[in-house]
Amino acid sequence: MVHNVTLIRGDGVGPELAEATRRVLEGTGIKFNWDIVDAGVDIMEKEGTPLPPKVLDSIRKNKVAIKAPITTPIGTGFRSVNVAIRKELDLYACLRTSRTYKGVRSKFDDIDLVVVRENTEDLYAGIEFEEGKPETKQLIAEIEKIGKKPIRKDSGISIKPISRFGSERIVRFAFDYAVNNKRKKVTAITKANIMKFTDGLFYEVAREVAKDYEGKIEYEERLIDNMCMQLVQKPEIYDVMVLPNLYGDILSDLCAGLAGGLGIAPGANIGKDIAVFEAVHGSAPKYKGLNKVNPTALILSGLMMLRYLKEFSAADKLEAAVTKVIAEGKSVTYDMKPHRDDPSAVGTSQMADAIIAEMK
Ligand code: NAD
Repeated sequence: MVHNVTLIRGDGVGPELAEATRRVLEGTGIKFNWDIVDAGVDIMEKEGTPLPPKVLDSIRKNKVAIKAPITTPIGTGFRSVNVAIRKELDLYACLRTSRTYKGVRSKFDDIDLVVVRENTEDLYAGIEFEEGKPETKQLIAEIEKIGKKPIRKDSGISIKPISRFGSERIVRFAFDYAVNNKRKKVTAITKANIMKFTDGLFYEVAREVAKDYEGKIEYEERLIDNMCMQLVQKPEIYDVMVLPNLYGDILSDLCAGLAGGLGIAPGANIGKDIAVFEAVHGSAPKYKGLNKVNPTALILSGLMMLRYLKEFSAADKLEAAVTKVIAEGKSVTYDMKPHRDDPSAVGTSQMADAIIAEMK
């Protein structure tokens, strides 16, 4: 079977990583019909927008995309291409896996964590009121009237909506992921002791959903502050974690750090029938065109894509090849060497070559 996949080349180091990843994915033997499209600052200069309509059209048509990093232009009025893609396509689940690979420098050697972050609600909904604006003053007056709580007049306000609908679909996603990937436990994480009507609602819904998986997947709850400490002290007791947007953002970086950093942290944004796979890291503009940075995070995002496409044996083959190349520590980029200026470090495309050679 040939898979139709949109490949978004991104900017900064994006195009180099996209090319390395495309070659590695083809090296698994799976056939792809790539629709290669550009988004980001480079295309903005040519087309006047960092997100040309054909990018979204292509993703809508193919339903699956792999996206290299994209710079968020500062001061252009365009918030973020990455956020725009998630919003436009309602990619409500952000999935980030963190595991330790032998050969990666990390304080831990037994990390195997999955973060499922809600991608559309919470303080990230973009409902913000600037300090001093007439609508902000109006809102403050209204809240003081109906909420009977004083708010300082010189406050800025960000609104945190968390819905029953949004909570249900993300928690169900986490449980389904746990079932399909032979995981044992889902931990729901919030600050519900303080935010009773938003985080509290998230828990209320999570408990309801958990009943549908009773006997198959264990369910537990943790408060976010306690969870940060627990993850640093005993990460091995956690498995799949599901969180509202803001906590999920922070905790997924913590998990990436536990497993050895951004160079190997893959991710996916998944909606009802569309998925966009991308590395956690950004476009690292200072390394643009140098064939220097680590392609592993985007390659591992491609590995997640193979599993999403149900190409399980190709995914296993790729995972074994990546694991071997990293463990050998020979054909790896500078960031995976004991010293960053190690002259034996290879470039982006040479690391991809080594992974492809392992799969032959
Ligand atoms: P970054 O992740 O691009 O880079 C930070 C540093 O991490 C780099 O200077 C480099 O030292 C290291 N690094 C990152 N990726 C690496 C790799 N593959 N191999 C080796 N080292 C790597 O973060 P930033 O500098 O904060 O962001 C740059 C731009 O990327 C910003 O415009 C930001 O908004 C954007 N960004 C995009 C995405 C995305 O496309 N999803 C995600 C995060 C940031």
